[in-house]
Amino acid sequence: MKIVRKKSKKEDRIKVDPDKLNMGNTYSSPPEYYYDAEFDCKDCGSHEIWTASQQKWWYEEAGGYFFAVAVRCRKCREKERERKGL
Ligand SMILES: [Zn+2]
Repeated sequence: MKIVRKKSKKEDRIKVDPDKLNMGNTYSSPPEYYYDAEFDCKDCGSHEIWTASQQKWWYEEAGGYFFAVAVRCRKCREKERERKGL
């Protein structure tokens, strides 16, 4: 699989809907936009991109805690789920 590196461009940003965010007990205000975020998988070291639309889904639809960030690639997340027997 080829990983395409993307630079953050204006088109890659998605507006945050602050009403849907799970901010926990923090009073800091959320950012205005999501941007594609690059990270290295904690388990296999693979360089991944957590896209703005994936972030929006995670934070606004899945109810993910706002300060949680992606640490594993999709493959390793699946492995981790299997390991936990989910
Ligand atoms: Zn991985």
